[in-house]
Amino acid sequence: MSRIVVLGGGESGVGSAVLAKVKGFDVFLSDKGEIAPAYAETLRKWDIPFEQGQHTEELILSADEVVKSPGIPSEVPMVQKIMDKGIHVISEIEFAGRYDSAKKICITGSNGKTTTTSLIYYLMRNAGLNVGLGGNIGKSYAYQVATEHFDYYVLEISSFQLDNCYDFHPDIAIITNITPDHLDRYGYDFENYVRAKFRITQNLSPDDCFIFDSDDEITVGHLGKIVMQAKRLPFTQKGEVEQGAFLKEDKIVVRYEKEECDIYLKELALGGKHNIYNSMAAALAAKASGISNKVIRESLETFQPVEHRLEPVLSVGGVLYINDSKATNVDSAWYALECQKKPVVWIVGGKDKGNDYSVLDSLVKEKVKGIVCLGVDNAKIHAHFDPIVGAENTVDAKSALEAVQKASKMASDGDVVLLSPCCASFDLFTSYEDRGRKFKEAVRSL
Ligand code: ADP
Repeated sequence: MSRIVVLGGGESGVGSAVLAKVKGFDVFLSDKGEIAPAYAETLRKWDIPFEQGQHTEELILSADEVVKSPGIPSEVPMVQKIMDKGIHVISEIEFAGRYDSAKKICITGSNGKTTTTSLIYYLMRNAGLNVGLGGNIGKSYAYQVATEHFDYYVLEISSFQLDNCYDFHPDIAIITNITPDHLDRYGYDFENYVRAKFRITQNLSPDDCFIFDSDDEITVGHLGKIVMQAKRLPFTQKGEVEQGAFLKEDKIVVRYEKEECDIYLKELALGGKHNIYNSMAAALAAKASGISNKVIRESLETFQPVEHRLEPVLSVGGVLYINDSKATNVDSAWYALECQKKPVVWIVGGKDKGNDYSVLDSLVKEKVKGIVCLGVDNAKIHAHFDPIVGAENTVDAKSALEAVQKASKMASDGDVVLLSPCCASFDLFTSYEDRGRKFKEAVRSL
């Protein structure tokens, strides 16, 4: 019996271990940290041996293949030892893809993955299809392949999950856009990150579709350098395309194989320029999957915003509070600021990932009246933005409550308080969800 060792005992690793068990492998799971009680319970329930707080080399290096969770960088000593020994390291997506014959729509990109994935899932459900949702969202893909049967999957796939994919084959691949993010995991080399995203296209065949933002120079530039057999379906807000999605007057037009579907912009459930892109990508995927124009229109018109993504929380004293805690990089915050029509008190900060804030300068100059820096070390934000909004309009906060209270003092009737932090949350919070929830609680306590 061959031996599969899974590294990492979170959602992805536990799902992989369960799938390996179901497929009859000798399985072992190892996590150097602590495994959450619910996951440990799942492993016990499935009778899967595991360890936590350590990596026992003899138990790991005896593997025929290793499934590595996406949170573990390849540079860590244990992974290096595994690779030095010539043991093949794969990702959960690669592993689960081997046992799944469903049609797969896979979404990657720097921003908009969750929104686009959720939109497509909603569209497919509304079309009455037997569809699963997975990857970075909800239950792991591997766990679902082990325990469910779907005809379709809509999978959100991060670049870390793509890193160890080799033969994984989507039927429709989407890259929403590519902007600098996570450079710390890619040797501060943007090209490495771009290549990681494009791994989603590496096995596409002529019958498959590749959906991409043709206004994004990085994506288009890389596309010019590679060979790809799939049907290319661009979406754009500049000009018209023969096949793909584009804007015509007050509508999105989706063109696919001689058919057309149009959707009025004013009817779209999600606001903002970025969500026009996301809606275009989702509508294209739906059209390429044979979903009717009626279902596409109705779905894009009734979809509810995903939590922590430009989520309106409450109006207090005429000030609207918006939770965009998931904006963990500069580009997502750019879109959040771009779609604001009212003066903004902006809550920004956290763990900086090597951000270049200068792309935000003109929007900040135009729209932001005050800044609340929410982070342990706010020096870089002050150095960059104090000269733009004035040091007297920039304050510091060390908790969501303090940030909201200070923002509420700076805002007046008709303004917006926008939490769109540009940064990861791990300096003051356990996750972006934790940051968003604490922000919402603080707003409700005003
Ligand atoms: P991801 O899963 O890629 O992180 P989300 O859909 O969760 O993407 O959105 C993350 C952040 O990016 C949110 O702040 C959201 O408002 C913003 N955003 C969503 N779609 C886009 C897009 N197409 N381009 C830029 N920013 C976007």
